[in-house]
Amino acid sequence: MRLRNIPGADAVIENSPYVIKEAEKTRGLWKELFGNDHPIHVEIGMGKGRFLMTMAEQNPDINYIGIERYTSVLLRAVQKIEEKPLPNLVFLCIEAADIELVFGEQEIDKIYLNFSDPWPKDRHAQRRLPSARFLARFDHVLKKEGDLEFKTDNRGLFDFAVSELEPAGWKARVITYDLHADKELCRGNVMTEYEEKFSAKGNPICKYIIYR
Ligand code: SAM
Repeated sequence: MRLRNIPGADAVIENSPYVIKEAEKTRGLWKELFGNDHPIHVEIGMGKGRFLMTMAEQNPDINYIGIERYTSVLLRAVQKIEEKPLPNLVFLCIEAADIELVFGEQEIDKIYLNFSDPWPKDRHAQRRLPSARFLARFDHVLKKEGDLEFKTDNRGLFDFAVSELEPAGWKARVITYDLHADKELCRGNVMTEYEEKFSAKGNPICKYIIYR
């Protein structure tokens, strides 16, 4: 994602009620924050938030939390939710490596990774969100029976992600190398900004659903 430093973005994020600040204080208390017992689904690396906005609208009985580390990117999601408030969606402007500081053990029911940054250099492999290092973090915060779903058009990243599963103790429930060609798997698929852009160029979309 091309990043621009957008003047005023930090202040908008700081003042938005949709972005939870000092989220360490909400660790273990997310159900209280939403004021209900509904399942909690988290997208990590949410970008401008189209996927989450659609999911939250379609599924009012699920609480959604989006994680994005850059204010300049999160700004767009905040502007959208201010136009169309949703009671079951909030955002966190944090680095995903800190996820265990803001969620308690098994507090999350489902995790989504959509079009995660590929970090193509070998020496940066541990920064990839579907790496074994990140899966170990997700293992703590995701319920034992919870699934993690990952979509990307980057075949190299996807092959890496699949190769990380077994050593990290995860198993694939579903693997496809062309999601949009699979009617069954594609039913109810909500497109992300990146998915729309890259599938329009003819790139096949890879997806897995994993569990432990
Ligand atoms: N999920 C969106 C989509 O599919 O359209 C955005 C994809 S974009 C390629 C990846 C996003 O993840 C970027 O906005 C980036 O800033 C964010 N991101 C990448 N690594 C992250 C991390 N470690 N912590 C938080 N956000 C991260």
